[in-house]
Amino acid sequence: MTRKITLIKGDGIGPEVVSATCRVLEAAGLEFDWDEQVAGGKAFESGIDSGVPEVTIASIKDTKVALKGPLATPIGYGQRSANVTLRGLFETYANIRPAIQLPNVKSFFQEEALDLVVVRENVEDLYTGIEYMQTKDVALTLKLVSRKGCEDIVRAAFEYARSAGRKKIHCATKANIMKKTEGLLKSTFEEIASEYSDIETDHILIDNCAHQMAINPKQFDVILCSNMNGDIISDLSSGLVGGLGVAPACNLGREYAIFEAVHGTAPDIAGQDLANPSSMILTAVMMCRHLGYFREADAIEQALKVTLASGCLTGDLTPSDKAVTTSVFTDTLISNLGRTMPEYVERAYQPFVMPKLQSRLATSTDLATVNGVDIYVESNVSLDDLVQSMRSLSEVVDLDLHGIYNRGTKVYPADISLTEYIHHWQCRFSPKSGLSSISDDDIREVLRAIESVEKLSWMHIEKILDV
Ligand code: ATP
Repeated sequence: MTRKITLIKGDGIGPEVVSATCRVLEAAGLEFDWDEQVAGGKAFESGIDSGVPEVTIASIKDTKVALKGPLATPIGYGQRSANVTLRGLFETYANIRPAIQLPNVKSFFQEEALDLVVVRENVEDLYTGIEYMQTKDVALTLKLVSRKGCEDIVRAAFEYARSAGRKKIHCATKANIMKKTEGLLKSTFEEIASEYSDIETDHILIDNCAHQMAINPKQFDVILCSNMNGDIISDLSSGLVGGLGVAPACNLGREYAIFEAVHGTAPDIAGQDLANPSSMILTAVMMCRHLGYFREADAIEQALKVTLASGCLTGDLTPSDKAVTTSVFTDTLISNLGRTMPEYVERAYQPFVMPKLQSRLATSTDLATVNGVDIYVESNVSLDDLVQSMRSLSEVVDLDLHGIYNRGTKVYPADISLTEYIHHWQCRFSPKSGLSSISDDDIREVLRAIESVEKLSWMHIEKILDV
C-alpha cells in the first residue's frame, strides 16, 4: 500500500525545492500518496489567523506525517507563525537538526568533517508565548519547563542517538544560573542516562558549549538543549557546516512528525530556479528513515553527495557564473542515484519509535505545600518606605517579610546594594515562625493589607514551594 503523506509546498522557494524533492523520492523508487495541503502565506491571506487551515490539520491528523516547505508569516496577518502553530498543535516536542559536512560545501572546518546533531526541546521553555507587560515599564516572559517536557525530550535524544548509531550525548544547559528550569533538564537527563548505558553522557554549560563549538566542534556527537538554547546552538551548527541551503530538520512527537527544511522562504531568489534543494532533500531523507525506507534514504543521500562532490553546485555554494539551477541540480542528482561515495558512508540507521512517558517520572498529582509567596509590587516609594510598609503589614498577617528583591538582587535585608532600582519589587513572605505553610487565606489577607497602603499596587503573585 502506498504511504499517504501530507505535503505542504509552502511559500517563496518552497514549491521549487519541494517539487525537486518529490522528483528525487520518486526516482529513488518511493511512490508516496501525497495529500497536498496549504499553510502559511496563502492561508493567512485567506483570513485564517493561525496560518493553518482546518483541512490541513485534518490531513496531518490522518497521515501522521507531513513534508513541509518554508512558510511565510506575512506582517500584519495572523498572530504567530504557522510553523510554531503546527509544532504546538501536533505536540512535536523534539526538533532534530543534524549538521553534517557535505563535499564541496565550504565551512571553517573543511579539514575535519563535522557530523553532529542538535536535539532541541520544541514546545516549552521561553517559546510558550506566556509573556506580559507586568507594569507599563516592565515586560516579563515565562520560562516554563515541566518534568514531562524534560523526560520527553531526554528520552527522544537517547532513542534518536541509538537509532542513528551515535555514541555520546552532551546535555547543554544553563543550570548554574537557572537552577530550577535548566536544572530540571539536567537532573532528568542524569536520571534517565542510567537506562541507556550504551550511550556516553556528559553535561556542559551552554555558553561553554557555544565556545567549544567554535574551537573544537569535532568533540560533539549529539547535543541536547532546551528550546531557546537549542534554537541558537542549532543555527550555529548549521553555520559550521555551510549554511541554510544544506541543513535538514524534523519535528517529532509521539504520534506526529513534521519534516521541514531549516531555511525560510528566501523571497530574494523565489521563483527563479536558483534555490538549493539539498536542505529539503536531506529533510526528506530524514522522513524516509523515520518511515523505515533506510535503503532509499541512503541511496538519495549518497547521490546528493556524489552530485556535490562533482562540483554541481547552486548559487549559494559557488559563484553565480559557475552555479547550476535548481532543476539542473535535481536532474544531476537523479542521474547519480545508484552511485556511492565510499568516503562518506551512511550511518547504520535503525527504526526509531518516540518513547512513551514512563509513569515513574510522571508529574505527581499531590498538591504541594506552599511555604513562601512572592508578591510583586509596583511602587515609586523609596526602598526604606517600602520596607517599613511591608514590615508593618506583616505584623498584622500570619506572614513574615523574608526579603525584598529588585530585578533579582536582594535589597532587603542587605548589607550593601548598589542596585539601580526600578519600580518593580519582589516582596517575599514566609510563614510566621512555628508555622510551616502558607494558606490561600494568608495570601488574600496580605494582598488586602497591601491594597490598603497608598502608593503600593500588587500586580502578580507567585506561590513558592521552597523558600
Ligand atoms: P523568511 O522570512 O521566510 O525566514 P528570509 O529570507 O528572511 O526568509 P531565509 O529564507 O532563511 O530567510 O534565507 C536567508 C537567505 O539565505 C536568503 O536570502 C537566501 O539568499 C539564502 N537561502 C536560504 N535558503 C536557501 C536555499 N535553499 N538555497 C539558496 N539560498 C538560500
